[in-house]
Amino acid sequence: MAIERTLSIIKPDATRRNLTGAINQRFEEAGLAIVAQRRIRLTEAQARAFYAVHSERAFYDDLCAFMTSGPVVVQVLEGENAVDANRTIMGATNPANADSGTIRASFGETVEANSVHGSDSPENAAIEIAFFFAETDIVG
Ligand code: ADP
Ligand code: MG
Repeated sequence: MAIERTLSIIKPDATRRNLTGAINQRFEEAGLAIVAQRRIRLTEAQARAFYAVHSERAFYDDLCAFMTSGPVVVQVLEGENAVDANRTIMGATNPANADSGTIRASFGETVEANSVHGSDSPENAAIEIAFFFAETDIVG
């Protein structure tokens, strides 16, 4: 086990329902520290670039429209095994399949509006963190 960092995004469906604090509580209770955080409105170009890996998927245009539909909170989480730990805290992509007690089971609305993003590997975490934060923005 190692101390890792992962990129988290609280998505527009969650900020719209004022769930930022409730979601952050899940991270902190599970032992992940929020070491950087910023509330922003993604531009269309940012959303398309961030989700470029999904550009061939049928849901790509809808996903980018959703992610620019309201404020998001981009954040860096730090802790033991943070990438996988956060995926466990988040739950499955489709809230209908997410284990009870996970963020997506508690708060997700649909497979698209599923409240949170989390990096899926340490390699992608480094890329995704650098997409939004300078090293000097992150205070561990
Ligand atoms: P995850 O966020 O769990 O890593 P993916 O990387 O597969 O999931 O997908 C990225 C995001 O795209 C999801 O979180 C969700 O918002 C959206 N998405 C995934 N699959 C679908 C789908 N079948 N229909 C609509 N949106 C989807
Ligand atoms: Mg993913």
